[in-house]
Amino acid sequence: MKKQQEKTRAVKEIARRAREKIPSLWVWDDLESRLNFATDRSAALAVPDLVVLPSREEELLRFMELIQTFPVPLTPQGARTGMSGGAVPVRGGIAISMLRMRKILSVQRHNRLVIVHPGVITGHLHRSLEKKGFFYPPDPASLAICTLGGNIAEDAGGPRAVKYGVTHDYVLGLRVLLSDGRRLSLGGETLKDVAGYRLASLFTGSEGTLGIITRATLRILPLPQTRLLLLCLFPSMASALTSVQEILFRETPSAIEFMDRQATRLVRGHLPLANTDNAESLLLIEIDGIEAMVNHTLDIVSRICHKNAAISLLPAKGPREADKLWDIRRNLSPALYRIAPTKLNHDIVVPLGNILSLVERLEEISKDYNTTIASFGHVGDGNLHVNLMTNRNNPASYENALKGVDVLFNDVLSLHGSISGEHGIGLAKRAWLPRQLSKTTLSAMRQVKDCFDPIGIMNPGKIFLQGGNYGKKTSQKNT
Ligand SMILES: Cc1cc2nc3c(=O)[nH]c(=O)nc-3n(C[C@H](O)[C@H](O)[C@H](O)COP(=O)(O)OP(=O)(O)OC[C@H]3O[C@@H](n4cnc5c(N)ncnc54)[C@H](O)[C@@H]3O)c2cc1C
Repeated sequence: MKKQQEKTRAVKEIARRAREKIPSLWVWDDLESRLNFATDRSAALAVPDLVVLPSREEELLRFMELIQTFPVPLTPQGARTGMSGGAVPVRGGIAISMLRMRKILSVQRHNRLVIVHPGVITGHLHRSLEKKGFFYPPDPASLAICTLGGNIAEDAGGPRAVKYGVTHDYVLGLRVLLSDGRRLSLGGETLKDVAGYRLASLFTGSEGTLGIITRATLRILPLPQTRLLLLCLFPSMASALTSVQEILFRETPSAIEFMDRQATRLVRGHLPLANTDNAESLLLIEIDGIEAMVNHTLDIVSRICHKNAAISLLPAKGPREADKLWDIRRNLSPALYRIAPTKLNHDIVVPLGNILSLVERLEEISKDYNTTIASFGHVGDGNLHVNLMTNRNNPASYENALKGVDVLFNDVLSLHGSISGEHGIGLAKRAWLPRQLSKTTLSAMRQVKDCFDPIGIMNPGKIFLQGGNYGKKTSQKNT
């Protein structure tokens, strides 16, 4: 109680001083505004005591200097599309929204890089580069609404990870502000750089727990000459997944997306194909490169799919039809609510060779726990979004689904996989992380956090189940 009162007083004082000393910083403390920054796309909700929105790094730097006398929890936020609760201010304190820092600062085609603010919407960067004949490969399905800062903090991936990798493959340099007011410039503008530790890589995927990313230098690539999207329907999940394995043995398409039986049923009516009734599984395969190579790969992919009894193969007629097919894939997540009102969504990943075993296990979990499971996603890199569909208001159904999740994680680990391929640990998966990482590894990670965030105020309560320096005696030294 006493701590809460101290925090409330500190936040009030911070707001007063920030308004006085940094007038261009947006500082919001009314309940309505604070409620707007209390959630992401997970089920978590926690209202911050204050919200600040800087428009420039200098403003944020001055704000960080100002809070040194009153250390309270800080939660960096992008567009709050995260699925693991990472941007939810669970310990209250200050939500720092980066949405006003949204400039593409420099496009250097000759150096194959861009320099951006963290609040740039990913899709905006995509569109603006494509006009110049370049592209930034990471393509999370949320690209129309998420920010590059959030992508870097979560090390986001997307369908094109099969060929092009994920966000960390494109981060050349970062500028970050630490909780104690230090500013770090990490990496730079070169494609190679081995001067010291690769701290830019360490901050990529750090879920806002080490510092606030204020600027990023990202690698870009020339747009491929041709892109072709192939829609393939299969009579069974096994025939689709066998095709994936055989394709990857020979070729590297830019994307291979999978839908299981449940997901395929949801989208059947929207497909530009007549004969979809017997389809139990679906693949979207994108091939890119020079035209002759694309045609060559298409030929191999088609032969493999036919050999595995594909019901139909349909190459999209041009970019418009391809976009429509991608939209069907991107809208699948909300469509799941037609099955049940609550979705427990987990972004697990397994080695490519174990995907078929995983999908077989999902069928068993679904039966054992009487829960409909719809899975789909980036199968070309072993990453599936597994959705256990339930009803939070029906305790028996919900309890069953939760047990199913627990078994799912055990199965994923026994298949040498990871409990998170792209959404991060945040709040949602803290409880299971010790199952994947040893005590020694977790404690080494904790030490890394303590090194960059000695007073433990940077996004506390995330990744690690317990502990942290926030509120400990060490923080008193700084007050
Ligand atoms: C429909 C839908 C589809 C999705 N598809 C994908 C997908 O295909 N692939 C994928 O990887 N994810 C996907 N996601 C999840 C989500 O969009 C990504 O995790 C995205 O990277 C989050 O970006 P954001 O701007 O919304 O970040 P937020 O949700 O606001 O924040 C995410 C984390 O990043 C931290 N953070 C944000 N900005 C900064 C900063 N400047 N400095 C330090 N830390 C920061 C926050 O503290 C938090 O821990 C999807 C989400 C939705 C709703």
